[in-house]
Amino acid sequence: MKRLYPGGKTKVFTVSYDDGVLQDIRFVELLNKYGVKGTFNLNSRLMRDGFEWTHESGMVVKRLSPSAALHLYDGHEIASHTLTHPYLDRADRSTILREMGEDRDDLERIFGREVRGFAAPFTFWSPEMAQCARLCGFEYARISEESRSYAPPRDRWNWRAGIFHLSPDLDGFVDGFLETDLELAVCQIVGHTYDLDAANMWERMENILRRVASCTDVDFMTTLELVRFLMPPDISESVNNSP
Ligand SMILES: [Zn+2]
Repeated sequence: MKRLYPGGKTKVFTVSYDDGVLQDIRFVELLNKYGVKGTFNLNSRLMRDGFEWTHESGMVVKRLSPSAALHLYDGHEIASHTLTHPYLDRADRSTILREMGEDRDDLERIFGREVRGFAAPFTFWSPEMAQCARLCGFEYARISEESRSYAPPRDRWNWRAGIFHLSPDLDGFVDGFLETDLELAVCQIVGHTYDLDAANMWERMENILRRVASCTDVDFMTTLELVRFLMPPDISESVNNSP
């Protein structure tokens, strides 16, 4: 017999969005409207009023300040995305540890709740980065690479989401998820909410959320909840990976 998710559902849908920008406000409203849970990966040192940059489309992207973000993500997961969004492939081990550990501490202080997830900035991943994530107390490290699969991820330190939201076949990928009978199927979409403005795809995203929410087989979890369900803590892992 197939394993089921808590609540007896056969599938989980989730989203993971990076950088903590102004458009998160509209996106979280949509998630809340349809009962979908998300993970938001934040850079605590970049959360300040007036911090902005110009997207290639010409749009100015603004980060949310701690006060603007304080209750926005209630009901969703807050995860670390490093302090300052550096290229970790150019960073030494002490810098990686500081970027992860201080960001986690800052986010826990700002939001008053536990932060146990990590999403790597840019497209970087290395065994050392994964080890640093463990040492900093994270329970998983999400990377930018897509799995293009509905199979539940097996490696919490090299966690690949299903699909990037700007992929041309996003709708087809969601269609396949709604039809699959794979055991413990997962559909995780990743991206940046400013793209929903830049690519004019709010309506398309809302259609996806509406369709998924109307499917009675689908449960909604954050990435951390999914990791904890799929991969309960392993005592040997913490022993083997002690510094
Ligand atoms: Zn980022």
